[in-house]
Order: sequence, then C-alpha cells, then structure tokens
Amino acid sequence: MAQVAAVLGDRKKSIRLTQNDSMVLARLREKSGPMKAYDLLETLRADGINAPMTVYRALARLAGHGLVKKIESINAFYAVSEEEKGRMGAFLVCEECNAIGFQLFSEEQVAALGSGLAVRNASIEMTTGCFSSVAAPLSRRCPKAAS
Ligand SMILES: [Zn+2]
Repeated sequence: MAQVAAVLGDRKKSIRLTQNDSMVLARLREKSGPMKAYDLLETLRADGINAPMTVYRALARLAGHGLVKKIESINAFYAVSEEEKGRMGAFLVCEECNAIGFQLFSEEQVAALGSGLAVRNASIEMTTGCFSSVAAPLSRRCPKAAS
C-alpha cells in the first residue's frame, strides 16, 4: 500500500505493471469505448488469459494506479486518457442512445462540488439525454448531438 501511495504521489514515477496488467490495459486502449470485464476476457483468451479473476485483479490494480476507471451504472471499464489523468469529471450516460462521455470539471466546479473541502477524488455518473460535443465521447457520439 505504501508503494502504491508513493507512485500516486508522484505521477512521473514509472508504475510497474504485471504482464497481465499490461495486456488488459493495452486491450482497453485499443477499444474506442468502455468494456465489460467479460467482454474484455473474451478478447484476451487468445493471449492465454482464461480466468475472470485474472481480469478482475488486473482491473483493480490498474484502477488503483489511476489508469482505468469503472463506470458503475453500466458495469464497464475504460482506459483513462493522458488528458484525464489525475483530473476529476463526470461520466455521461445517454439514456436515449447509450453513448458514453466524460466531462472534465474545471477547478471552480471541483471547488463548488466540495463546498470548501479539499476534494481528492470523485466518482460521478449522470444519466442524460443526448449530449453535445462539450463532453469527450468514450463511445460513439450521440447521433442527435450538435457537433
Ligand atoms: Zn444520445
């Protein structure tokens, strides 16, 4: 635990990943949107990963390093982009077309959410109608959204 905290405290330090962690992360990065753990497992069988627990453990370690986030409402995981690393925001889940987006928060928005508390992390998911291009789409764009 102390080692993980040290790594998170200095994001420039390299994070040591196991081979399984690296394969899971690579597969998530190849995919254009969030993936459910079992779908991830299916794509990893050819690489010799056959046990759900192997995937879940890798996802837990990657989440601990801030490299992967879980979207609870759709029970799926995605690889955090460079731009999003260490920043807070909200997942947008479009109720009309199932598109998924991530909206980064400004420092002012984080401060307002925390009501003066020093917020270090937040997990916020919002079910929405079709969202516009202000959100970074994690899956296909909402078809009705303005571009
Ligand atoms: Zn939509």
